[in-house]
Parts: sequence; structure tokens; C-alpha cells
Amino acid sequence: MVVEAQQRKDRFEVLIETFIRKQLRLKAHTVTKVEEREEEMIVHIDRLGQRLLRCGVCCHRCREVHSVRKEREWRDLAMRKLPLKLRYRPRRVECPRCGIRVEDFPWAEPWARVTTALSNAVAKLADGLSWQGTARQYGLNWKSVATIVQRAVKFGLQNRPRPPVHVIGIDEVSRRKGQVYLTVVYDLERRVLLWVGEDRTEEAVRKFFTEEMGRRRCHTLQVVCMDMWAAYANLVRDHAPQAQILFDRFHIVKHLNEAVDAVRLELWRQLTAKERATFKGTRWLLLKNPWNLNGDQKDRLSTLVRLNSPMVRAWYLKEAFQLFWNYKQPWRAEQYLRKWMNAAMRSKLEPFKKFVRMLRTHLDGVLAWTKTRVSNGAVEGMNNKIKSISHRSFGFRSAKYFIVAIYHCCARLPLPPER
Ligand SMILES: [Zn+2]
Repeated sequence: MVVEAQQRKDRFEVLIETFIRKQLRLKAHTVTKVEEREEEMIVHIDRLGQRLLRCGVCCHRCREVHSVRKEREWRDLAMRKLPLKLRYRPRRVECPRCGIRVEDFPWAEPWARVTTALSNAVAKLADGLSWQGTARQYGLNWKSVATIVQRAVKFGLQNRPRPPVHVIGIDEVSRRKGQVYLTVVYDLERRVLLWVGEDRTEEAVRKFFTEEMGRRRCHTLQVVCMDMWAAYANLVRDHAPQAQILFDRFHIVKHLNEAVDAVRLELWRQLTAKERATFKGTRWLLLKNPWNLNGDQKDRLSTLVRLNSPMVRAWYLKEAFQLFWNYKQPWRAEQYLRKWMNAAMRSKLEPFKKFVRMLRTHLDGVLAWTKTRVSNGAVEGMNNKIKSISHRSFGFRSAKYFIVAIYHCCARLPLPPER
């Protein structure tokens, strides 16, 4: 009986050893023993006979083993509920190209303390979940997850495809209520993040053109989409003079809405208490499209119209501006915009005058819309994604990890292959 049970146990162990060896796709190594403990399973690995090992730096096959180092341990994906750990004494090989180096491990990246299978699983989960949540899921700590994601991003940035880029959008995102600014650059055709950098100054963003793009890739740029207030226009002229600068629709509309708001605020300051009661909660009425209003809302809007003609002028100006986006012929679009700007200048609304002055100094890049029709809808979506990354993670004390997380979630980076 005892012998039989022992035999069954042996058989089980052989099976699980074979299973793990196959799962890890070991060729020059083998699993010698699987030790089942209460809290974990330990997989002992050894070199298989005299099979050739590879150099950890260049992956070249090496004939000579120089020495055997002390045992190291790697965390792997759990076996059901038991954490799996691999144990192995790494060999140092004599590489004809690199000299004496630690061998290449088929199950992990050279300095990683977890297997590639585990780090890829962690990285995939961290794409949609906070790093804290991911750590809990895999029984790791926050720092381990941060290191794993950081390594995955580093690998991804070195190995991602770099097809020619034609249309990019540059924008900024802020953290901690505008104390920290980051600049993000998107490929608007592929809808993918190209670059994130700390700060929003010209010098900071220059790195995108010199380091990420380089001179050759800058040549293929056709349209660069940005906000009128941004300081990047000179950069585009320096590094990609052939590209058309386009002041994007989203930001122009944002400035327009801000002008409407400024008019409303100024008016509010001048009103009496009784008049204020009528106005309460009307801001959204003005921002809504007129055809979406119901009867009561229309009544309130008409009271509003009676009480304040400046507000109405602002509202009509804002509505009239929107027609600009529909023009197909550049000269007609320009004619319309010039008419609109003249009307706005006569409106006696200071915020609108300010807006017009901004348009006038950037006119070429505003009119470029009609020719390019580039929409930065992708930018908006991505910026929202970045906001949600910022909200779900409290661990980002430094901009460094925040930048890592943004690359990880928005740049569609490749993960290391699981061999
Ligand atoms: Zn080598």
C-alpha cells in the first residue's frame, strides 16, 4: 500500500514536472523536482546535460560554461491558488563576442525577478486597473507592479513599430489642479500616443522632435494640430517646416465657450438680487443646442433673452461661429470668418474681442481646417483616458511613474515575447 502510494506520488510529480517544463518551453534546461509546500510550489530547474546555453546579452550560443552562480528565484504565474516559484543556479558563459556573461533565461528577462509570463499578465491587467488593484490580484506589492510596468514600457518603447507619421496632435494634460503639466503627442491617424514629456515649455517639447522623431521622420509630417495658446508653433517651423499648423477645432470651441462664460459672469456681477433669481441655473441653457430645449426651457430662455441683450449677443455669436466648420471651399470659409470677426468686434463684448484678436494672429492655422479637416476627436478621448489614469492611482507621487502609466495605457506598446 505504502509503495503504491509512493509510486502514484512519483507519477504525479513526473507529470507535473513535464507539464511545467513544456509550459516554460525549456530546451537547454529541465525541471528536476517540483516541491509542494503549504504556501507555495517550488520548481527546481537545472541545466539539461551538456546542451548549449545562450549569452544573456547577445543570445549567441556559447560552448564554454565559466562558472555556476548561487541560486536565484523567480515568481511565476500561480498554480491555481499556490504561488509558483522557479529556482535555478544561473551559469556564467564565455561568449565569443561579449566575454564572460550570465546566461540567457528562456523564462525571464535578464534582471527580472518574475517570469515574462507573470510580468506580461501583470502588465495586461494594469492596462485597465490601478496598480494597487493589480498588485492585490497577483499578491505582489505596489512597487513590484510599478517595476514590472516600467520594464514593460521600456521594452515596448525600444521595440515598437515606427511607421511614418503624417498627422499629429500636441496637447497638454495637468495633474494636481494644474501644478504639474505634461505634454502629450498623438498620431491622429493611428490614434495612438507617440510621446509624453514633463512640462509644456518649448524646450521640453523640442525633445519630441529631436529624440522621438529624428530628422528623417519629421519630414513626413503633414499636419500638426494644437491649441492657439500653445508655444509649439516655433518648434514645428524649426523641425518640420513643410507641415501645416492647424489650430484645432476642440480648443477653438473651448475658447469660444469661455468667452460666453466670461460675458455671463460680467453680467451676473451687475445684476440685482431679484434679477439673479431668474437667472439661476441658466448657464446650461445657453450651452445647449436650441433644438434640444423643451417648452419650459424655451420660456426661461426667452426671459433670459429679455433681461440681457449682451448675453444674447454672445450666444448668437457663438452659434454663428459654428457654421464656419461646415464650409468646404477655403475662400468662402475665410470670407465667412472675416465677417464673423468684424461682427464680434462690433459686439462691445470684451471677451469676444479678445477671442477675435487671438484668431487674427493665428488666422492661417485656423483657416487650415477647411483644407485638412483633421479632427482631434482622438486627442479628446485620449486625454479623458489619461484623466482616469490619474484619478485611479494615488501612487504617482512623481511625474516619472505617471508618464510610465500613460505610455502603458495609450501607446499600444508590444510586450516581450514569451518564449
Ligand atoms: Zn554575447
